[in-house]
Amino acid sequence: VGISLEYRVDGRRVSKDQFFKGMEEKVKGMASDQVRAAVERTRCAKHGRYARVVSSRKTAQGFQLDIQGCCDDLIERAQRAALS
Ligand SMILES: [Zn+2]
Repeated sequence: VGISLEYRVDGRRVSKDQFFKGMEEKVKGMASDQVRAAVERTRCAKHGRYARVVSSRKTAQGFQLDIQGCCDDLIERAQRAALS
């Protein structure tokens, strides 16, 4: 009698390695969604506009976002929001 474990990602059967790799990707994806939301909630006090994430990509450390805004001040605040 043995115990057999099944690993599934989104209902699809995968190997153990694939499963843990998938988890890692998901966690990274979630983190990047949260950071993106924090950036896009940042509003410029001077111009009343919101910061925007124009692109994001994965890096060895996690991910990198390119932030756009109406002025340097907003971008700087959005970057701080992303890091908090
Ligand atoms: Zn501004």
